[in-house]
Amino acid sequence: MKVLIIGAHGKVGHLLIGELQSRNIDFVAGLRSQEQIKAYNENNIETQFIDLTASLDNIKDSIEASGADVIVFTAGAGGAGSDLTLEIDLDGAIKTMMVAEAIGIKRYIMVSSVFSDNRSKWDASGIKPYMIAKHYADDHLRGSNLDYTIIHPGSLTNEDGTGKIKLLNSNEVDSIPRVDVARALALIIQNPSTIGKEYTFASGDQPEEEIFR
Ligand code: NAP
Repeated sequence: MKVLIIGAHGKVGHLLIGELQSRNIDFVAGLRSQEQIKAYNENNIETQFIDLTASLDNIKDSIEASGADVIVFTAGAGGAGSDLTLEIDLDGAIKTMMVAEAIGIKRYIMVSSVFSDNRSKWDASGIKPYMIAKHYADDHLRGSNLDYTIIHPGSLTNEDGTGKIKLLNSNEVDSIPRVDVARALALIIQNPSTIGKEYTFASGDQPEEEIFR
């Protein structure tokens, strides 16, 4: 197994690298600048250039060259505006799904968000374009032939992790440290029983190992 982390320079992506290293899971860090690639290579991390605004062909070349058979999508425009949210969180994500299907990478794990599937929450969220982008990217993934898992974590924090979470319903939100999201991703990568499932969660009392198994 080899995991391509799309968004490996992001906060969750960075923590996921640590989780995969500690579990001896092979991975390649998907990065979008030569400076990042140089820095990661200096730390003996395998890298692959991938820019989600690039053409479908370019993204196909990048994903093929990574040699991965699992994709984790944890990239995002991150408040850079609605246009980029559309281009990265929606079209960028869907381009990687199209490529995965075209070249036969079956396993695809998406970091989505709470409320992406609950329209009644979008107006008050203050980030409606992001919710829309996440909603339709998730929907595309559900309709694909990929072995998907979608996680919908609550508000991300940089607190220390607890390794414990609670499942939420689609009307609820709470916070969760990014490191516990990274741990969830690592467990999901290791457990095929999570294929075809979606998890909405925040910090809680239940060990993550009991949920993602
Ligand atoms: P982050 O730190 O902003 O990381 C996002 C990553 O996406 C960055 O590494 C960024 O690259 C990369 N990226 C942006 N544009 C790109 C492009 N054109 N091509 C390739 N990569 C690109 O985000 P995070 O806090 O780790 O969040 C991870 C995921 O959780 C995101 O998908 C986010 O939508 C989702 N989420 C967030 C929240 C929240 O409360 N913030 C809640 C639920 C879910 P650079 O480092 O080069 O900028």
